[in-house]
Amino acid sequence: MNAGVYLDHNATTPVAAEVISQMVDAMSQAWANPSSVHGPGQGARRTLADARARVARFIGCLGTELVFTSGATEANHMAVLGALTARRASMRQRVVMSAVEHAGLLALAQRLRSEGVVVDLIGVDAQGRLDLPQARRLIGTDVALVCLMAANNETGVTMPVADVAPLAQAAGAWMHVDATQALGKSALNFAASGADLMAVSAHKIGGPKGIGALVVKKGLALPPLLSGRQERHRRGGTENLPAIVGFAAACDAAAAALAHDLEQMRSLRQRLQAGLVGALPEVHVFGAEAPRLPNTLCLRFGELDAELVLSRLERAGVVAASGAACSAGGTQPSHVLLELGASTAQAKAGVRFSLGPQTTGEEIEVVIAAALRVIGPLLAPAPAAAIAA
Ligand code: PMP
Repeated sequence: MNAGVYLDHNATTPVAAEVISQMVDAMSQAWANPSSVHGPGQGARRTLADARARVARFIGCLGTELVFTSGATEANHMAVLGALTARRASMRQRVVMSAVEHAGLLALAQRLRSEGVVVDLIGVDAQGRLDLPQARRLIGTDVALVCLMAANNETGVTMPVADVAPLAQAAGAWMHVDATQALGKSALNFAASGADLMAVSAHKIGGPKGIGALVVKKGLALPPLLSGRQERHRRGGTENLPAIVGFAAACDAAAAALAHDLEQMRSLRQRLQAGLVGALPEVHVFGAEAPRLPNTLCLRFGELDAELVLSRLERAGVVAASGAACSAGGTQPSHVLLELGASTAQAKAGVRFSLGPQTTGEEIEVVIAAALRVIGPLLAPAPAAAIAA
């Protein structure tokens, strides 16, 4: 598949050849059920244990703290629904989360509200930074769970997990971190994060889709979403071993080059930002003053609708994304950009460029040139009509 210049790594990433080859090996050689007691089953079990140790090493947790899931969406659901169940007896039924969490988690919050659960949202400022005083006010002793993403998928703005985790702990609430976008794009470490629970997903770091994990801190009694005896009774269902092996291979590859990749993405992102902002004064960068992931650049070209910008860019060979969701009723403005105080038109204009470790300097120059060529003229004021003599 030739996608031109692909700058949508926050949506998903290409799968590396090494990942595919290890997955093929797992499918052809470790196809037995890891729960079976016979020889082939025990072989698959060893493959699973090896993959688990590699993923745990990259995340900075114990292998026994990892529960493999179908991805971060499932992990987020398991954290929230499990916490509400586990903490019912202690009368903790309130949930606090940021207003810019992933759409899937906010949709769950909406569903819970319709069932009578109180879910309070912590806002962000115009740069996308969490309102810490509001967090302090909302996190009380009736809270079951605090959810805070490590980094926002649209703006790349990182969230102050290190400041919020002690607030949760002091209130006796559990702390869940959706680290889907931070894995592979920061020095993420579960043990050092102060989190009780953490969601991650393989397909954001060069692994396959449909596999992720919830890290459950040792000793935390979290009930399962899917009952069964796999994953130490925390997630029933025969393990998706090829995908788990692919996740491990992606973790190994990301770990081997992490410091280099972060630095390279940061400098290319800065070049892209400077190239666009310098040439087009109408460009506004979201979260420019906030700490951000090194790979993400979210901006708007004046108030040009993202749909128009993205289609023009794609015709020029550049693939990017918008935070706005398309639905039957037309484009919906990005909920994240609205939280930053953007107007509806501005929130529909948000365009996200997200780089990957494979992104090159040449590609960034192609993107800058393409944007100036195909978007620039849409921004320029119409030339004054020539007056006929
Ligand atoms: N949380 C965040 C912050 C994400 O960016 C995503 C993926 N867009 C998810 C959760 C969902 O991940 P998955 O595709 O593994 O369900």
